[in-house]
Amino acid sequence: MNILILGSGGREHAFAWKLAQSPLCDKLFVAPGNAGTAQVATNLAVSYTNFSAVADTIRDNKIDLLIVGPEEPLVKGIVDFLRQQPDLASLRIVGPDAKGAQLEGSKDFSKQFMVRYGIPTAASQTFTAATLQEGLAYLETHSLPIVLKADGLAAGKGVIIAETLADAKTAMNEMLDGNKFGDAGSKVVVEQFLRGIELSVFVLCDGENYKILPEAKDYKRIGEEDTGPNTGGMGAVSPVVFASQSFLRKVEDKVVKPTLAGLKQEGIHYQGFIFVGLMKVNGEPFVIEYNARMGDPETEVVLPRLQNDFVELMVATADGELDQISVQVSPQTAVTTMLVSGGYPGDYVTGKIISELDRLEDVLAFHAGTSEKNGQVLTNGGRVLAITAQANSLENAVRKSQEAARLVQFDGKQYRKDIGLDLIRYSD
Ligand code: AMP
Repeated sequence: MNILILGSGGREHAFAWKLAQSPLCDKLFVAPGNAGTAQVATNLAVSYTNFSAVADTIRDNKIDLLIVGPEEPLVKGIVDFLRQQPDLASLRIVGPDAKGAQLEGSKDFSKQFMVRYGIPTAASQTFTAATLQEGLAYLETHSLPIVLKADGLAAGKGVIIAETLADAKTAMNEMLDGNKFGDAGSKVVVEQFLRGIELSVFVLCDGENYKILPEAKDYKRIGEEDTGPNTGGMGAVSPVVFASQSFLRKVEDKVVKPTLAGLKQEGIHYQGFIFVGLMKVNGEPFVIEYNARMGDPETEVVLPRLQNDFVELMVATADGELDQISVQVSPQTAVTTMLVSGGYPGDYVTGKIISELDRLEDVLAFHAGTSEKNGQVLTNGGRVLAITAQANSLENAVRKSQEAARLVQFDGKQYRKDIGLDLIRYSD
């Protein structure tokens, strides 16, 4: 089977690494990929937002299975586009169509969806430029802090947690009047602040059946003890100590099942990943957001724990046969530490030489922002490498991941030294 993955991050390297282990995998391609994916697959210099170029790549390389990594092409309708190509009728695709991807592409849609199907989430109201004055008045009545969310995709920067009324008003004005996020900010969801602990749950859906994959916790802020600005993710851990069996059963009953029933009710044949961002509040799950894809860096801890043949799992997803699959998960703990460029998530420079990668032992180095030039691996993004370690205890997995993170060198390297420490200290 010939397989194409779209994307260029650590998530896609983890997909490629896992798919390449399967005897069912013949040729494996990643578009556009990075220096890590080049070690296990063939990189193709194709932009994943250029749908006709992707279709031609699929034809030229006789691709049987396509896995769409990032949200942007999904929300823009790549699956719908490919489904309209008569000669690609037999192509298997893992990733929802544009309607399904609205779960991530529109916060307003996803909030209304949750309300329609009784899925627990924070109370909210949506405002547009036409209702800006009502919105500002509404903020006056709201308790602090206030959560404001740009409706559309905003590269992870569309959520503002305002500690004061003045900050909330500024944020709302900037989005609805100042066009801060362009079209993505033409609607603003104002949401009640939930106080609890966060957890990511991943569901694989084939349109009919679903499988729940291992859960993970990610670390979004740049600074230790969750300080400083948000990033794409500085590390992740799986499993998560506070995600007990009974809590995960609640998630399945109160969130996963009604979500899938709702999708069916709306006529959405969802084939792909659903990433549910949850807050555990007094033992109960509340949905913060849906994503229409796997998380990054969560994939870098979820896939190493998954013991199934990943090609088989992806084919079953595309063929509507997930009911034939039993998900096998390693009991080991996986921890990933993200190495990022100096200055990230603000301005940073790329092109720095990465060294000591060959000294790493007993860890997985998933490439996020890297490129290769004259046999050297260079930094090529804010997030550079996700170093995943697995061990029989959380403590040992943390230690191994951190030791490896220390070993790898590049100019300006930064990483969080407290990934997983909160979970080691955690008690109910
Ligand atoms: P999102 O872009 O939806 O993942 O939101 C970014 C982050 O904002 C989340 O990971 C949470 O940490 C935080 N957040 C979002 N919504 C809420 C909420 N209603 N209450 C508290 N924190 C929230």
